[in-house]
Amino acid sequence: MSIQFDVRTRVREDLRDLVPYDTHPYPNVIRMDLNENPYPFPEAVCQEIIKKLNSDVFTRYPDPGAVELRQALADYNGVAPDNLIAGNGSDELIQLIYLTFGGNDRTVLIPVPTFSMFKIHARITGTGVEEMRTGEDFAVPVQKLVERARAGIDIVVLVSPNNPTGTVIPPEDIMYVLENTSALVIVDEAYFEFKRETIVSHLNRYPNLIVLRTFSKAFGLAGMRVGYLISNESVIKELNKIKQPFNVNSFSQLAARTALKYRQLFDEQIGMIIEEREKLFMELQGLSGVTAFPSQSNFILFRTPVNSDKVYQELLKGGILIRNLGKVPGLEDCLRVTIGKKEENAIFLEKLGVILRDNK
Ligand code: PMP
Repeated sequence: MSIQFDVRTRVREDLRDLVPYDTHPYPNVIRMDLNENPYPFPEAVCQEIIKKLNSDVFTRYPDPGAVELRQALADYNGVAPDNLIAGNGSDELIQLIYLTFGGNDRTVLIPVPTFSMFKIHARITGTGVEEMRTGEDFAVPVQKLVERARAGIDIVVLVSPNNPTGTVIPPEDIMYVLENTSALVIVDEAYFEFKRETIVSHLNRYPNLIVLRTFSKAFGLAGMRVGYLISNESVIKELNKIKQPFNVNSFSQLAARTALKYRQLFDEQIGMIIEEREKLFMELQGLSGVTAFPSQSNFILFRTPVNSDKVYQELLKGGILIRNLGKVPGLEDCLRVTIGKKEENAIFLEKLGVILRDNK
């Protein structure tokens, strides 16, 4: 006799309508969809990583405390190793924060539009979500945010520079939130290296602050999955109780700390990305009917006079993959393009120009 097992009814009721993250399995396209670093990983860094590889990297469990990586990160950020936790991408750390401080009857307040995983991980961890729409220019209404946060919000999310808008939250606004609510405030600085404005230097003043960073963007290590968070020791202590012990694998720890050692090589790439971004921004603005939003990051959000589904599909047919955000409230007919290499940006722009002309 076989047992009755209807998996759909066994899944947690609050998670039944989740959809898996779309991995865009398109071969042979120029990828301008995930805000990665488009340049090759520097040869010198690659060689040093290979030189340091040994049998233990493969056979032994990784260092659960990522001691060497955290020391390198402490030097990079002017904090102590005890202010740091490394994660399997900052995605893992978002979930870790919710697992530790969310769940039960806790609620997170998220200004939107922003990085979707803040909401998805909240749902997965059973954390309530309240969204607050930002204004026309995507500025976070901090006064309104604080008023709401004071009335029963446990966690506040601030992403600066924000994804997908590229908008920066002024440091004084971030401090206003930190000073006027007892909620835990996550400041996601995934794109820090493209703006170099950080709240980390004020860490000592704010017991409720957690800063998130990643190696996936400026450091070109998206494939290694390394992120980190910076906070006060007391917060770190609590998070470490919940963290998976061997969360960052040995190879990734080695890659990340070697990348940090050679960070001036990435500075060159970051400079080129910023230069290309400014050029592409002007060019997008020059296309009839297009509105490009100023960005302090490695991508640009823009609105087209043509339906964004159409633009997305036509670009894909032409071998270019970008991000269609047309279904996000407030971002109707908007798309996000990651800054590519000079020649990739030129191809993108040319194809976009043709699509807009043909669909007038
Ligand atoms: N935060 C923001 C704002 C992001 O845009 C991203 C990546 N798109 C992440 C976090 C996640 O980065 P990671 O690769 O470190 O998980």
